[in-house]
Amino acid sequence: MSASTSSTAKILDGKALAARVRAGLAIEAARLTARGVTPGLAVVLVGEDAASQVYVRNKTKACHEAGFRTFDHKLPATTSESDLLELVARLNADPDVDGILVQLPLPASIDARSVLLSVDPRKDVDGFHPDNLGRLLMGQPRFIACTPFGVMKLIEEAGLSLVGAEAVIVGRSNIVGKPMAALLIAADATVTVCHSKTRDLPAVVRRADLVIAALGRAETIKGDWIKPGAVVIDVGTNRGADGKLVGDVEFVAAASRASAITPVPGGVGPMTIAMLLSNTLLSARMRAGEIAG
Ligand code: NAP
Repeated sequence: MSASTSSTAKILDGKALAARVRAGLAIEAARLTARGVTPGLAVVLVGEDAASQVYVRNKTKACHEAGFRTFDHKLPATTSESDLLELVARLNADPDVDGILVQLPLPASIDARSVLLSVDPRKDVDGFHPDNLGRLLMGQPRFIACTPFGVMKLIEEAGLSLVGAEAVIVGRSNIVGKPMAALLIAADATVTVCHSKTRDLPAVVRRADLVIAALGRAETIKGDWIKPGAVVIDVGTNRGADGKLVGDVEFVAAASRASAITPVPGGVGPMTIAMLLSNTLLSARMRAGEIAG
């Protein structure tokens, strides 16, 4: 749906916010480069998945625009798990590589969990390694998973005070829902995490001051479930039969009740990439000895 509807909600422009974040990162990257430490991201893509190719291209482009180096590794779908683990081991040992991104999904013949565990937690700029997820849960984050990290920036942009707020997250994945819950708990929100077995999802969403939709089902969260004045963050990216991207929230109806809402596309997606760069820069600062790892 287009963002140019008769909505009353503030449209949270993730594209513009991401551009501002990336401009700040470019300044920091130039400063570090002058000290001899150029932030470097290794991007590993296995197979020919069309969506993954687009994501990887966008991430690489964003890195170059910010003055980061990238190390691209495009491997055929027939790559064995041991060959991939060997590559990750080499990247772990490479001093020029600050961050390692293994684009998901991996071919079914490769155990994604083993690969994820093999990434050095100090280079796990996706924030998927148990060491980083555990630190986040303990309130001592190193790398925060990029999508929830970007969502927190969008919430700031909405001007919502999270202290004591009712936050409802729909989706409990390791890469979105669970780290999102940890961040919101740390920000003093009262957090409810819903999933496919949740009884009466509409009733739970109706009490939320903040709705985070991350279920991956097009327009499942109905506009009339949104409490008037709530902030709505739509993480979902679902491609319709016409090839267009739609979110998990019924955008137009929700925007007529929300105080602020993210569009799809142009909301959470660009922020995910910006936070990947932010994590990579953080890792480069660790390499430069500016901060402890
Ligand atoms: P996922 O691993 O498939 O998890 C989906 C979650 O939603 C699961 O916890 C599932 O419940 C729950 N769910 C599914 N149908 C539901 C329903 N009808 N009612 C309530 N809960 C339901 O997905 P993900 O990786 O977290 O991604 C979620 C969405 O975000 C996808 O559209 C994905 O493409 C998008 N995404 C976007 C970005 C971005 O940068 N914009 C980044 C990451 C993901 P169970 O646990 O019970 O199965």
